[in-house]
Amino acid sequence: MEVRLAKSRGFCFGVEDAVEIAERALADHGAGNVIALGPVIHNPQVVSRLEERGLSQTGVLERIEAGKSVLIRSHGARPETYEEARGLGLNIVDATCVLVKHAQDAVRRLHEEGYHVVMIGDPNHPEVRGVIGYAPVVTVIDEGSDLEDALPYRERLGIVAQTTHSPEHVAQMIAKILVRPYKEVKIINTLCLEVTRRQESALALCDEVEVMFVLGGLKSANTREMVRLCREKGRETHHLETHEQLTADMTAGKRVAGVTAGASTPEWVIAEFVEKLRAIPVGPSDPEAPSGALLRTD
Ligand code: SF4
Repeated sequence: MEVRLAKSRGFCFGVEDAVEIAERALADHGAGNVIALGPVIHNPQVVSRLEERGLSQTGVLERIEAGKSVLIRSHGARPETYEEARGLGLNIVDATCVLVKHAQDAVRRLHEEGYHVVMIGDPNHPEVRGVIGYAPVVTVIDEGSDLEDALPYRERLGIVAQTTHSPEHVAQMIAKILVRPYKEVKIINTLCLEVTRRQESALALCDEVEVMFVLGGLKSANTREMVRLCREKGRETHHLETHEQLTADMTAGKRVAGVTAGASTPEWVIAEFVEKLRAIPVGPSDPEAPSGALLRTD
């Protein structure tokens, strides 16, 4: 099977930094002495490699013994978490992505300037749960929110968004807010360009292939968003974590497949998947398939 790769795909600098920080902490403090507060990144394959090297994980700070190191993941944490960790006598290793820190600072600044802060994002996502801790009150909205009920009337509204959302989605949400009677609305752009580039590359690739594969953790928000965008574009799209989940029906009758990966998917997961996909014999062609596409060589 012919396989074309998205130009921008896989590990972003924030995830690379988080993995490096975890590895360095294990080298400095020793296996068993570094405990991540939740999965370091949303990729089970990378997390299990780190676990093999001695990283453990908990959801509860109190379970970590004094003197050990707590690793704050790339999604960041609320300010109380840092205070609590210090109070428990833990050494803090902070792997929060700089762009998540930018969103945290934006929320704090908007509150200090007197805006009622609104975050466009998934209220259950760890990044959002952390970021909203940087102001006493933040209203979180997503596409399912009834803005009439969710948004209180305040003269001044300050808006940020979850880093992994698409610009289109955020623009649509902001448009819905702007038709309401706020006197002043301040927007701080907290979107991650790494994610936006991956989304644009995936959408461009959709035009060249018959089927798309988006590799990444099933809980990874940026991977899920890419899957949603590719499907919205009308291309058959499969969200898989590894080559082991690839089944014959996904490629039946297809000649050209596109592959991309979320920001927490390492290159070795992509390489294994591409190797398996390329080995699949080409079936009869689909008359609806896009034609005349250029072959990428990256
Ligand atoms: S996707 Fe963007 S915000 Fe998230 S860790 Fe990577 S660089 Fe940071």
